[in-house]
Amino acid sequence: MLQTFSAIVTSPPILSHPIEYLKGVGPQRADLLKKELGLFTFNDLLHHFPYRHLDRTRFHEIIDLNPSIEFAQVRGKIIGHELIGEKSSKRLVAQLKDATGIIELTWFKGLTWVQKSLYEGSTYTVFGKLGFFMGKPQMVHPEIEAAGSEATGVKAHLEPIYATTEKLKSRGLGGRQIANLTTSLYGLISEKDLPENLPEGLLKEHRLMPRFEAYRQVHFPASTEKFEAAVQRLKFEELFITQLRLAIVRQQRHSYSKGVVFEKVGDLFLEFYNKHLPFQLTGAQKRVLKEIRQDTATGHQMNRLLQGDVGSGKTIVALLAMLLAADNGFQACLMAPTEILAQQHFAAISALLQEMNIEVGLLTGSTKTAERKKLLPRLADGSVSLLVGTHALIEEVVQFKSLGLVVIDEQHRFGVAQRARLWKKAIVPPHVLVMTATPIPRTLAMTAYGDLDYSVMDELPPGRQPITTVHRFDDYRVSVLDFIRTEIERGRQAYIIFPLIEESDKVDYENLMAGYEHVKAAFPEPKYWISMLHGRQPTDQKEWNMQRFVRGEAHIMVSTTVIEVGVNVPNASVMVIENAEKFGLSQLHQLRGRVGRGAEKSYCILMTSPKLSHDARERIKTMVSTNNGFEIAEKDLELRGPGDIEGTRQSGALNLKLADLVKDKAILEKAKIAAEGIVERDPELESPEHLRLKQYLMSLKGKTLWSKIS
Ligand code: ADP
Ligand code: MG
Repeated sequence: MLQTFSAIVTSPPILSHPIEYLKGVGPQRADLLKKELGLFTFNDLLHHFPYRHLDRTRFHEIIDLNPSIEFAQVRGKIIGHELIGEKSSKRLVAQLKDATGIIELTWFKGLTWVQKSLYEGSTYTVFGKLGFFMGKPQMVHPEIEAAGSEATGVKAHLEPIYATTEKLKSRGLGGRQIANLTTSLYGLISEKDLPENLPEGLLKEHRLMPRFEAYRQVHFPASTEKFEAAVQRLKFEELFITQLRLAIVRQQRHSYSKGVVFEKVGDLFLEFYNKHLPFQLTGAQKRVLKEIRQDTATGHQMNRLLQGDVGSGKTIVALLAMLLAADNGFQACLMAPTEILAQQHFAAISALLQEMNIEVGLLTGSTKTAERKKLLPRLADGSVSLLVGTHALIEEVVQFKSLGLVVIDEQHRFGVAQRARLWKKAIVPPHVLVMTATPIPRTLAMTAYGDLDYSVMDELPPGRQPITTVHRFDDYRVSVLDFIRTEIERGRQAYIIFPLIEESDKVDYENLMAGYEHVKAAFPEPKYWISMLHGRQPTDQKEWNMQRFVRGEAHIMVSTTVIEVGVNVPNASVMVIENAEKFGLSQLHQLRGRVGRGAEKSYCILMTSPKLSHDARERIKTMVSTNNGFEIAEKDLELRGPGDIEGTRQSGALNLKLADLVKDKAILEKAKIAAEGIVERDPELESPEHLRLKQYLMSLKGKTLWSKIS
């Protein structure tokens, strides 16, 4: 059947065949495989790797079974079985005995059929998930086979166990049956279907197993050693190919992209730097500025990711870069993820540039029509040099005269498509500086953002005192409020944050309101003033509440996470986070970053209920033990896995099947060095040695890398 099929349809590669054409599948099971496991083609099945292997030659003795063993295989005699219970609780219970003890086996389904196949006194091999009841071992719905029958057929030494679902199991597609499908797939393919893609030199240098062999060994290993070697090979391939594609994108950008040239450091930059800069730049700030200066002078477009922990002073770097653009006759814009942040940036930049001859504009969703009408022509004729705003900046009607630099603050809030629209606002694409305070672990930066150039500001401005972080249970709230009172008496301000992750979440919203009333009762007017901020307020109300807090007229800011990013009120010294267990690590770190921005000692108090999940406890523990954003990011990656890290979810670069960015750091480093070496020596992959690599890359068409931002 299969041969005929592929012969008629000008033989598409066998691995792209739809799963229903595999022997033993058919349309109905195919539907299930698609829905339940996302297996559409032969290739998908090939990449449905077993999650473990069972050594069928080894058996547990019943006496050795203990709760630390997840799956067990035992061999023994059935010494009794009976049907017990009525109706829905009806079940078949059997006892299996080996030389050391007895295990109980239970079935709830297929009772008659199972019972018919059990013979008292016969020997069986039983495999299944181990459980304990009153200290005695038991298995529910184990796989059971009459001893001896497993010796027939050519079974691998290590039998693959595949992930499946309850639904699939009930339709006869348990782990075993999936193994049968994989086995029949292997009967159909040969080396030409999975040709080697890595250069010979690389295989030798890293002692990698050939590709076809590796796939086979991952599914049906001949030995544990072979399995390990196969996994190494496939992980290396996966990481290497990702790194290679990133290296190529980066290399092409460096050699072909056209960018506007910022030739000189001019009057605006120098005047600001010498006369108005309110402080000495840190070493890290100077270094990043130098990198930006070099990038923008080359004639190629800059695509730089600037990562700097909360409070490291990214804004001033952005401003200096923008002045550099202006000095060279170009306009620059700064995009912020929220209205509040855009307004704050605008206020800060306007204040800093107050005595200079340069026009700064603000454009957000709530900019009034009359103001827009004034602003837009001045932007189009170049009178406005610097524009600050939200995503309102990317609307079609916003036209620049000569946009030379785009700074994106807190980039993970911007979608790719949104960014792409910005570049269309100039003939030569503007330079791009993406700033983020979300520290990205190195391994992740190397993959998810590997095509960008990358700067790190790992130094805080001098004079900052480390923030003290403590964890308190809810019943401690009175003392926490007392503490806030003392800080207010010393002239400081405080934030109290409530979770409102989804604006539509009713319970969270009610909690916020109740919390606000509670705080108000504890801090009565007119002695104390409290601002409140949440996503449901109209913009002017948000703005009014924020400004009152910025000016120091409100003592406490009760807010949701709308203030998470970027907000800068250096006088605030206390950050209380309610229901801290509901927040992710990077969010907690961002929120904490709202204090400790001035010279005063600051505190972060994480309030939780006494009942915490394991992960929540780990998050809180991490927050209490470190202020270092990179350490926190590593922990976050470890707890959540890369797929969940904010902003990287859509990243195709992270679609790793086998490799794990936490555990396989060492392989990643090697793969990166190897990939960069090849691109450096042979950027077009023209040498015969790289031919198969090139062919393989071309076959991956359509899988684009989202972080390419130009
Ligand atoms: P972030 O990197 O989190 O965006 P900001 O740019 O908001 O940080 O800066 C945080 C605070 O540090 C601001 O109040 C800013 O004025 C101040 N700051 C920035 N650079 C320096 C410096 N070199 N010396 C002293 N203070 C600085
Ligand atoms: Mg900032």
